[in-house]
Amino acid sequence: MRMILLGPPGAGKGTQAVRLVERLGIPQLSTGDMLRAAVTAGTPVGVKAKELMDRGDLVPDDVVVGIIADRIELPDAKSGFILDGFPRTVAQAESFDAMLAEKGLKLDAVIEFKVNEAELVDRIVKRAKETEARGEPVRKDDNPDVFKTRLEAYRKQTAPLSVYYSEKGQLKTVDGMKPIDEVTEAIKGILGR
Ligand code: AMP
Repeated sequence: MRMILLGPPGAGKGTQAVRLVERLGIPQLSTGDMLRAAVTAGTPVGVKAKELMDRGDLVPDDVVVGIIADRIELPDAKSGFILDGFPRTVAQAESFDAMLAEKGLKLDAVIEFKVNEAELVDRIVKRAKETEARGEPVRKDDNPDVFKTRLEAYRKQTAPLSVYYSEKGQLKTVDGMKPIDEVTEAIKGILGR
């Protein structure tokens, strides 16, 4: 099963991805997590990405496409994966389609999380507080100011992907404002398992 979770920051993609990992036994591939790891490790990619991420802008397409191309080659991704936060531009989606076609692989599902943007800032603030309460480091971009830039990047660069996948007949949607368990059930309904 190869699937994409699409939706703005704070929509609940990561939360559902964790549940899908448990249920389907395939890995969650989050470009955000991979980039944060690169920043922490101080790799050349991390150095390049840090400033863009801190201000809420997207990292260049070639960087993330390269990361995903390498990642899907690893053994644990052979039987499938859940993409969380990738693709984020039409150019990334086109590169990814070409990558799959070259390998003779197909995409099984693209699930878009529909949300009320006005409520997302509250979710992000809550996420930051909960992270802090667990004694874990809070993401630098999980603050209302940077969040606005991330949302803007989503509207301008990522939202066109709904049209891209819908024209290909691959887009399914869930109501991301519903309680977590209900969203999980809706996804189960779409996937048929
Ligand atoms: P996320 O954890 O998905 O919210 O991503 C955090 C940040 O990483 C984003 O605001 C971007 O700066 C960067 N990023 C993650 N995935 C991508 C992507 N597919 N394309 C470009 N930038 C990305």
